[in-house]
Amino acid sequence: MTDSIIAMTHLSHTYQAGSLSKDALVDITLEIERGSCAAIIGTTGSGKSTLVQHLNRLLRPTTGTVIVDGMDCASPGLDVRALRQKVGMLFQFPEAQLFGQTVAQDVAFGPRRMRLSSSQVQARVAAALKLVGLPFEEYGKRSPFSLSGGQMRRVALAGVLAMSPSILVLDEPTTGLDADSREDFYFYLREIQREQGVTIVLVSHDMSEVATLANRLFVLDQGRLMMQGEPRQIFTQGDRLRECGLGVPALSELLTLLRKKGLAIPEDVATLDEAFQVLYQASGSRRT
Ligand code: ADP
Repeated sequence: MTDSIIAMTHLSHTYQAGSLSKDALVDITLEIERGSCAAIIGTTGSGKSTLVQHLNRLLRPTTGTVIVDGMDCASPGLDVRALRQKVGMLFQFPEAQLFGQTVAQDVAFGPRRMRLSSSQVQARVAAALKLVGLPFEEYGKRSPFSLSGGQMRRVALAGVLAMSPSILVLDEPTTGLDADSREDFYFYLREIQREQGVTIVLVSHDMSEVATLANRLFVLDQGRLMMQGEPRQIFTQGDRLRECGLGVPALSELLTLLRKKGLAIPEDVATLDEAFQVLYQASGSRRT
């Protein structure tokens, strides 16, 4: 890989509680490229959250190494504060942690702790709110609790962005949102990636949800890395995905069935537009 920002080598993690132990991650080796969007996919309990919690040392490897932008996360001398500024984490249902009287106060919490001047904090708050589509002028002085669920979640995202992380880790970021809010959330995430060049690590159990954003998928099953590759390569392997307890996006499923019925749809066709082009051309050539 040309420029990896995250490298895990033979990472294993075992939870220990008294005499009980659980191998949550087993011998994971992977790299994530700077500026890319990686999705960690797997069913509940497959180890996704355990894996990403190693990225800002909420957890330490039982064995193996985790290097984040040149920092060895297991090193005793690690500057944990610097690491946590680099790796912004948005946990599930982040709106539960909103507490500010106003949206701006909430988003300012992180930058304030970075000991920036008040004008720098203000600039960061305004920039972060703009990135999530909640401009300061309109939303800054409102109570976060007067907003919709989707907007509250974007306030929480702005709070993480205001710390200027180079890696953004999102654990099941759209759980519990309605379809429109989910779409909005992904729209802003795509914009953020395009404009900020931030590396995104997305945890999800839903393949179709990440299909449009992720450049690379890592599929976990029972703590093991079972598959990795570009979404379009992974989606053609429906049988292996089902073995990992996962579904395939409906479009990929349909294309696989059409191929089995004899339509010559190339393996690298993965999006609706690509499928339309191929099928449209096929139907046109049949008419003539
Ligand atoms: P996912 O995020 O894919 O749902 P997790 O990383 O949360 O998976 O969990 C992986 C496995 O580790 C599961 O079997 C889970 O029950 C177990 N586990 C997670 N956290 C703990 C913990 N604090 N103590 C013991 N076992 C845990």
